[in-house]
Amino acid sequence: MKINVIKTQTPKAKPDPNSLGFGKYFTDHMFVMDYVKGQGWINPQIIPYQPLPMDPACMVFHYAQEIFEGLKAYKTADGGIQLFRPFDNIRRMNESADRLCIPALDVDFAVEAIKELVAVDSDWIPTQPGTSLYIRPFIIATDNALGVHASATYKFIVILSPVGSYYKEGLNPVKIFVESEYVRAVKGGTGFTKCGGNYAGSLKAQEITEKSGYSQVLWLDGVEKKYIEEVGSMNVFFKIDGEVITPMLNGSILGGITRKSCIELLKSWGMKVSERRISIEEVYDAYQNGKLEEVFGTGTAAVISPVGTLGWKDHVMTINNGEIGEVSQKLYDAITGIQTGKIADPFNWTVKVK
Ligand SMILES: *Cc1c(COP(=O)(O)O)cnc(C)c1O
Repeated sequence: MKINVIKTQTPKAKPDPNSLGFGKYFTDHMFVMDYVKGQGWINPQIIPYQPLPMDPACMVFHYAQEIFEGLKAYKTADGGIQLFRPFDNIRRMNESADRLCIPALDVDFAVEAIKELVAVDSDWIPTQPGTSLYIRPFIIATDNALGVHASATYKFIVILSPVGSYYKEGLNPVKIFVESEYVRAVKGGTGFTKCGGNYAGSLKAQEITEKSGYSQVLWLDGVEKKYIEEVGSMNVFFKIDGEVITPMLNGSILGGITRKSCIELLKSWGMKVSERRISIEEVYDAYQNGKLEEVFGTGTAAVISPVGTLGWKDHVMTINNGEIGEVSQKLYDAITGIQTGKIADPFNWTVKVK
């Protein structure tokens, strides 16, 4: 399939690269492709960034048949542009699609579409340390009808946003609170997918936690509220007595690409890494015994986010004196180094746009 490209006649002014924040600015173009039952994915185009005309009965408004992804493009010192593990994102998108009865994408074509869009808007990629071009692919159900069933038509859209750091704290440690009342997902549900509904359901706990001075919630399992799952939009790792532990993928946790990259890096450094069940009591016991050495979140947006304070019930755990730990820093340096081409990529994780 050939992508039809229509360039904007009115390019926007670029934002100040020193105050990008996260997801506030969007580039000049977007990719759009339609799905029609019986015809498949058709009509791929890159067009000027613009609003979508939608009928109020559009199914996505009512039943949230929607999925998304998040990945980044970086400019390298030699002027090249590269993506980080984009095939993994589209493969994961197809897993989300399957759970939500959305038709799958052709993985190679979707990555090609992202590359072409990034190339068209390449002068929007910021180059200051810690900045990048965030890529947001998403699929929405577009049948105009009420009644709960899978839509027969969809749109796959990709938009781009130049971003700085996800948290206003930057790489400084964040405060995370363990959520003991609300739950995010249960096995058999949609926790392993990036579907919009998961995030709508998490807002209440997030709002309460922000009021008490924490920046995100740490979710426990939906059945016993005992085992650790993940943070709002990050997977979570604990370093206890030399062992790096992250909850195993159990159907309710999102299988992060940053998580997978951290596990692969730690193993390549000969460190002990375990994917297993870990309870909040185990973390608290380790803390009391002086063995909780590091806690960090992993995700595309922040890459590595050290946790300086972990609140649970009445307990306030201060980790590594509230400073970034050695392993967190080493992972951050390795991943961002590979992403920006500053260090070699022995795993072939990066994909050149040009
Ligand atoms: C996106 C996301 C992550 C991180 O996944 P990455 O592929 O590393 O960006 C973790 N948890 C949740 C709930 C997410 O939405």
